[in-house]
Amino acid sequence: MTNPPTNPPMIDLREATKKYDDGPPALAGVTLSVAAGECLAVLGHSGSGKSTLLNLIAGLDRPTSGSVTVDGTRVDQLGEAGSAKYRRGSIGMIFQFFNLLDDLTVLDNVLIPAQLAGMGKGEARRRAAELLGSLDIDRHAKAYPQRLSGGQRQRVAVARALMNRPALLLADEPTGALDSHSAADVRRLLLDLNGEGQTILLVTHDVELAATTAHRTIELVDGAVARDVVNAGTTMNTNTNTNTGTAIGAARGDASRAGYGNAATTTGSATTTFTGPSGAVL
Ligand code: ADP
Ligand code: MG
Repeated sequence: MTNPPTNPPMIDLREATKKYDDGPPALAGVTLSVAAGECLAVLGHSGSGKSTLLNLIAGLDRPTSGSVTVDGTRVDQLGEAGSAKYRRGSIGMIFQFFNLLDDLTVLDNVLIPAQLAGMGKGEARRRAAELLGSLDIDRHAKAYPQRLSGGQRQRVAVARALMNRPALLLADEPTGALDSHSAADVRRLLLDLNGEGQTILLVTHDVELAATTAHRTIELVDGAVARDVVNAGTTMNTNTNTNTGTAIGAARGDASRAGYGNAATTTGSATTTFTGPSGAVL
């Protein structure tokens, strides 16, 4: 029997440390590898370094020491222009509060990344139409974001994030401002995207969201990886691609990720284990 194919790393951090002027480091020697096609959840209390980690991976900030490599690019060595280009081409970001521009229509919000990347107008409109359709928000294309529900706004934000077919989707508390129905909707969306091969890094306080969406969960404590566990019952799509957004919503049962409760602590000296939705709340 042969081993299953191993995907190359999409994210590779080596001893990444971020220090601000005073106080302990925001990130303290993080070594982390995330495979292409993986969905990694990052849990941790407020102030544990989650946003710092995202910012280093997105090239929005540089480590004080150590390296950050994403999709083969040494992100920590990019200059300002290179970093902006990298973000436009390789990174899609979604946030707790959507970060949409309220004086632009849904369609114009979704077109922004394409315009910044210099995509041709026709191609950009085709891509936007495809995304709005597959995310089921096409009927709102001409509406302004404030007229939409939170769940719909997050769908617009996801469409915008996927516009340039990013290698990596970074999500910072994407369900944090949503009611439970919309949160479940966004969770299914992330599952669908990941099922198509989209690599996702998901920062969340929601242990259930982590356990039911991600292949693997890490916990940051004081800027260090305190736990790194594989979520039970998850399988990874080894057929990775960055051409997501064309078939979102394809039938995909949630059963494959229904295994709450994580197994197999792989690193760290866990004093407690993740116990799923009824257990630790971070
Ligand atoms: P989280 O996202 O997990 O809440 P952050 O990554 O935002 O945590 O912050 C980690 C630590 O770094 C915190 O102690 C925070 O106060 C500190 N920190 C973050 N950004 C800055 C900054 N620009 N200047 C000084 N300290 C910062
Ligand atoms: Mg944060």
